Amino acid sequence: MDDTLVQLETDARKLVEDYIEVAPYKLNPNSKHVDKIIKSLAKKKLKNGFFYCPCRMLSDDKEIDAKIICPCEYHKEEIEKDGACCCDLFVSPDYKPA
Ligand code: SF4
Repeated sequence: MDDTLVQLETDARKLVEDYIEVAPYKLNPNSKHVDKIIKSLAKKKLKNGFFYCPCRMLSDDKEIDAKIICPCEYHKEEIEKDGACCCDLFVSPDYKPA
């Protein structure tokens, strides 16, 4: 695998692990799913320059797209409503897999 992508995966993992240290959420207990989303975040950064949400479409508007850099502007509301963010990466503390 490309060294750059490996480094970006390491960076993406650090980003999400650092975030759950300070946020009232945890990572999805399905570690394979977490790995998949982390890989997708790394690919987004490689292709588009930022850790954009892998589950959302990019627009051509940088301001709008800034809202979907992980952790995106929408995840808190989604976790409150559904117990998980759109990508099922961050979940509520009492999250139970379906
Ligand atoms: S939906 Fe989840 S994984 Fe996607 S950007 Fe938002 S917080 Fe990150």
